[in-house]
Amino acid sequence: MLRMDDFSVVVAKNYAEAAAAWSPEAMYVAGGTDLLPNLKHRLFHPKTLIHIGGIPGEIVEEEGTIHIGAGAKLSYLASHPLLLQKLPPLATAAGLVAGPQLRNMGTLGGNILLDTRCLYYNQTEFWRKSLGYCLKAEGTWCHVVGGPKTCVATQSSDTVPVLLCLDATLQLLGPEGERSLKLRDLYRYNGMDHLGIGKGELLTKVVIPLPGPGFRGSYQKLRTRASIDYPQLSVAFTGCFEGDVPLSLEGVIGAINPQPKPLKGLESHLGRPLDTAAIEAIAASVYKSTRPQGSVHGDTNWRRQMAVVYTRRALQALARGE
Ligand SMILES: Cc1cc2nc3c(=O)[nH]c(=O)nc-3n(C[C@H](O)[C@H](O)[C@H](O)COP(=O)(O)OP(=O)(O)OC[C@H]3O[C@@H](n4cnc5c(N)ncnc54)[C@H](O)[C@@H]3O)c2cc1C
Ligand code: SF4
Repeated sequence: MLRMDDFSVVVAKNYAEAAAAWSPEAMYVAGGTDLLPNLKHRLFHPKTLIHIGGIPGEIVEEEGTIHIGAGAKLSYLASHPLLLQKLPPLATAAGLVAGPQLRNMGTLGGNILLDTRCLYYNQTEFWRKSLGYCLKAEGTWCHVVGGPKTCVATQSSDTVPVLLCLDATLQLLGPEGERSLKLRDLYRYNGMDHLGIGKGELLTKVVIPLPGPGFRGSYQKLRTRASIDYPQLSVAFTGCFEGDVPLSLEGVIGAINPQPKPLKGLESHLGRPLDTAAIEAIAASVYKSTRPQGSVHGDTNWRRQMAVVYTRRALQALARGE
């Protein structure tokens, strides 16, 4: 049995209460589906857990944007009529996280702020100790890179590639008060410290601008077991179309390194049909720019090839009008 260290629990009724309870020895817990396994593996040692999982997360449309409370459960996102109608790829991505029980507990906020993952890190303390630990937790060496400096643990959230394509903005509440942060400015290429937010800052809401007419999107996820596993690679594409012609196009590759990877150069495919030649050109550029790290399951070369396959699938779905 994996036991957790002792800690006290503060149950917050709202985010202001949660922020007031924060101290350097505390951690926030929402659904707990990521944090509690990590505590059992003794990756963190908080003295206090501040429970924010009971704070409701509503989904509402407001002046050309959709607001989603950070506490919204993933199962709620996956089946919400507003998302199914206006942002279907986000509902798809939420519905592909883990399995049904975890989606009933797990929140959007926890998904966005998920710790990075690694084959050498998400293990019991006994297992990690037998290997001399690693740079991200108690050790001095990265077993993936084979060096003492860089951690390439993976950002593995399913909703994030789609939210990046949609240019989402985060509402944060911290000791200095409220502020907004573009999601594209949140992640850093550092598996040990991948989140660009301050200590004690809470994510309260995600704001997504509603896309224009002709919106299409696709989220593709590679994983070992379709019933529960984290992504080994993910591909999201969104765009606004007139017939088969994209007027805007965004793409993000996820689950390959500590930072999701927005694709560059897609603007050269705007204003002309997204035909086989265009799809193959984009797939070739994805191959060139995708370098999966060995921090998650699956041969890195194979995952790189699969980025091409999933890019094709996503773009073909967009071209078909899905
Ligand atoms: C078996 C298994 C399979 C999984 N598969 C997937 C998968 O396929 N895809 C995937 O994306 N995830 C997967 N997960 C991870 C997890 O279930 C989801 O990412 C979920 O959305 C996490 O949300 P949570 O509310 O449970 O987060 P928690 O575990 O409560 O928190 C996660 C982190 O975010 C912080 N946090 C949470 N909410 C806030 C907030 N509002 N403000 C500030 N900090 C906050 C916590 O302090 C913690 O550091 C899996 C987990 C398990 C156990
Ligand atoms: S990438 Fe390296 S340092 Fe980071 S968690 Fe994995 S083994 Fe540890």
